[in-house]
Amino acid sequence: MHSKGEPIAIVGAGIAGLTAGLCLALRGMSVDIIEQAGQLSAIGAGLQLSPNANLILARLGLLPALEAMWTEPDSICLMDGRTLKPLAQVPSGVFARKRWGAPYGVLHRASLQRILIAAVEQQPLCRLHLGMRLESALPAAIAAVTGRAPGLIIGADGVWSSVRTQIPGSRAARFSGNIAFRFTTGSRQAPAVFDASKVMAFLGPKAHLVVYPLRETQTFNVVAIVQGKSATASWDEVLSAGAARDLNSAFSRWHAELQPLFKGHEAPTCWPLYEVSEGAWQDGPHTILIGDAAHAMMPFAAQGAAMAIEDAWELAACLDKGQPRAEALERFVAQRKIRIKKVRARGSFNRFAYHASGPVRVARDFVLSQKRPEDLAADFDWLYGYVPRD
Ligand SMILES: Cc1cc2nc3c(=O)[nH]c(=O)nc-3n(C[C@H](O)[C@H](O)[C@H](O)COP(=O)(O)OP(=O)(O)OC[C@H]3O[C@@H](n4cnc5c(N)ncnc54)[C@H](O)[C@@H]3O)c2cc1C
Repeated sequence: MHSKGEPIAIVGAGIAGLTAGLCLALRGMSVDIIEQAGQLSAIGAGLQLSPNANLILARLGLLPALEAMWTEPDSICLMDGRTLKPLAQVPSGVFARKRWGAPYGVLHRASLQRILIAAVEQQPLCRLHLGMRLESALPAAIAAVTGRAPGLIIGADGVWSSVRTQIPGSRAARFSGNIAFRFTTGSRQAPAVFDASKVMAFLGPKAHLVVYPLRETQTFNVVAIVQGKSATASWDEVLSAGAARDLNSAFSRWHAELQPLFKGHEAPTCWPLYEVSEGAWQDGPHTILIGDAAHAMMPFAAQGAAMAIEDAWELAACLDKGQPRAEALERFVAQRKIRIKKVRARGSFNRFAYHASGPVRVARDFVLSQKRPEDLAADFDWLYGYVPRD
């Protein structure tokens, strides 16, 4: 059983680690969060936060702070990237709050991280240790940083997790064959089709573009995802000449109105997309992985951070049941693997549909044209209307 007096160490203060700290503290558990970065960086640009994540952030009391920063889009629109023809529209805004019990918001990732850190700093049961890179996540190495030996270690250290390498049966991250390019564009320079009241996904063969407003900077966040070969094992790479060519050629036949986005633009950052799709998350009662460290996925369903937030809530709930710790962790892994598998499958389906060409594209457009916005929304009930297990 996890004794509440026994400290828990969380490696990584990303979305997973910070949310887990808050969820555990809410249930009376003491937490040390250890982060290699000395200060916040703006890495990651924008984030779509869906209602399933926001239900949990609301339970943590963070909704007012989020509402002060984010935009709640009226709808999520799919558009043809070559013709700019609208293909489908899922209502959001007030509709999302009513249908899924929580809002849908878009904001800068750093804003969310700042809100989480402020909450952690006000929580007496959480201690944050910034600027501390752990070379090993063994209890003695953690105690050297925190001054106390942890009863449980939570690896929330992202897709290239070092905690994961200590778990027997875990698997390394694999390059997915897709690269994300991220940049922002000022509202004035943006193509006229960009609409600050919507999340827009422009679809095309082997590539798509997601655009939404960032209220904090009065810009549009742009994510271009293309199939590609370059696979350096790090994020936030500055654009190489080869990657710039990949980006330009993927969109060269898209609508003229979008072309200026890809030419002579401020250097986008380049994110080779890695996945962790199998392998163990748990080492007996000692160690557990959450977030990208456990199950990094493609951003085709925009759910990576949302899954990290759900993990955080459900892990705390499992540890709070009075079961022996190894059993509590097994229960957590069993229930989360089912959910992650389903979300990953939705992402794979989106990848297939978004990047379609030829007859598949024609069929996709026909099917979408037959669906009413409410029918499209109903397809998201299992995802956005999810209530985390207690
Ligand atoms: C292009 C793109 C778009 C995306 N869009 C969305 C979206 O719209 N919605 C959504 O829900 N998700 C989205 N995601 C996914 C989301 O960004 C990630 O799933 C999420 O940020 C993962 O959070 P995490 O806390 O698990 O990992 P990370 O954010 O990677 O955090 C890990 C932390 O651990 C620290 N760390 C690592 N190693 C050590 C160590 N040895 N010692 C100490 N600290 C360490 C790191 O510095 C970092 O702060 C997107 C991802 C990409 C690539």
